[in-house]
Amino acid sequence: MFTKILIANRGEIACRIIKTAREMGILTVAVYSDADADSLHVNMADEAIHIGGSPSRESYLIGDKVIEAAIRTGAQAIHPGYGFLSENADFCRKCAKQNIVFIGPPVPAIEAMGSKSAAKVIMEKANVPLVPGYHGDDQNPAIIKQAADDMGYPVLLKATAGGGGKGMRQVWSESEFDEALAAAKRESLSSFGDDTMLVEKYLTQPRHVEIQVFCDNHNNAVYLFERDCSVQRRHQKVIEEAPAPGMSEELRKQMGESAIQSAKAIGYQGAGTVEFLLDVDGSFYFMEMNTRLQVEHPVTEMISGQDLVEWQLRVAAGETLPLKQNELVLNGHAFEARIYAEDPNNDFLPATGKLNYLRIPVESEHVRIDTGVRQGDDVSVFYDPMIAKLIVWGENREKALQLLAKSLMEYRIQGVTTNIDFLYNLATAKPFQQADLDTGFIEKHHDLIF
Ligand code: ADP
Repeated sequence: MFTKILIANRGEIACRIIKTAREMGILTVAVYSDADADSLHVNMADEAIHIGGSPSRESYLIGDKVIEAAIRTGAQAIHPGYGFLSENADFCRKCAKQNIVFIGPPVPAIEAMGSKSAAKVIMEKANVPLVPGYHGDDQNPAIIKQAADDMGYPVLLKATAGGGGKGMRQVWSESEFDEALAAAKRESLSSFGDDTMLVEKYLTQPRHVEIQVFCDNHNNAVYLFERDCSVQRRHQKVIEEAPAPGMSEELRKQMGESAIQSAKAIGYQGAGTVEFLLDVDGSFYFMEMNTRLQVEHPVTEMISGQDLVEWQLRVAAGETLPLKQNELVLNGHAFEARIYAEDPNNDFLPATGKLNYLRIPVESEHVRIDTGVRQGDDVSVFYDPMIAKLIVWGENREKALQLLAKSLMEYRIQGVTTNIDFLYNLATAKPFQQADLDTGFIEKHHDLIF
């Protein structure tokens, strides 16, 4: 096992990783920008190295500075967290050159999943079900349009380089197509520097169900059940839960095995998530594979009793997976609510300011708060405005949901506008209690929630 690792991230995920490393007796090195000089992750780590200015492109996104910090402190491995450098193949290559272990999958796996079209080509060959669509190299607008016309509207245009819900456009009829394609291309070019598009059949009431997979370097692979992330706003997750309500054992097994097939098709190692759309008729389709630890991994930890960061460290150090498929047990139900500094009454505009007062719910075996901030800290303009993740567990969905609502009620933040009331309204809405979920949930129940 490593004796010292560097965490190339900030905020809650940096703190989360440090916590496990510490429990495993591994020393930690934090990196930080100007704005983060006094932040919690710096405080928690055994050592901390300043790597640049507040904007992430001057610090957290500069691989060379991170690697330099690892060399300087003698860290044997780098955990990238999520975002920033976590899916950057160039960065992984540079780590390897310096004999530093990148705690994540091998470079070819990252590259294979870096483009949504390339990923679909690979999954097609591996017999993983795909949403019908066109993901070819020929980007002639007439050809893309023909594909849309052939499968019938509505369709969804997606940037192949896309992420975070950007570069997507729904098209409801043939007459809107040209304009939508041009707009999606413009957005994609400005967000990702690439305007290659794919088009898919737009499912009108799907659920987003994703499978957590883990592979080691000894040919073992398991799935740690599923998460339902259907409650989304602008294609971004708001509340996640595990397991997915109403999931049959049979479907869980089918989706789990499909996810492992996806991972094996690209020689995967470490923690990964295969995202599927689950249609009303029970068909499921591969959407993409995220080659990193995800924001919502704690709900899986709560229902499996496993520490996924510990698993990542063990696999990266060359150990075999701690458990086999038949040794994994799904127990109870968990929710995660993402607490953001944002204004739900003003189009979810990110909010900034000082966290003058912070009262978090009492933490226990069943209530977990993952956060990177303390009372008195600033929520700055420079980074994602997530303040914390509230994670709860109950022996069934109803009990977990009651605990979620109660904990949201107890949460108090002053000084910065947050989405806590919005989350509370969501958690207590009847259709949510009834698990009547699909990705259009928030839009459909707008009047109940706002
Ligand atoms: P990103 O990488 O930008 O997050 P994804 O491909 O993962 O994009 O899709 C994000 C969300 O968009 C999904 O969770 C789902 O809600 C919605 N979505 C994606 N593809 C489709 C589709 N073919 N039909 C309906 N909704 C879709």
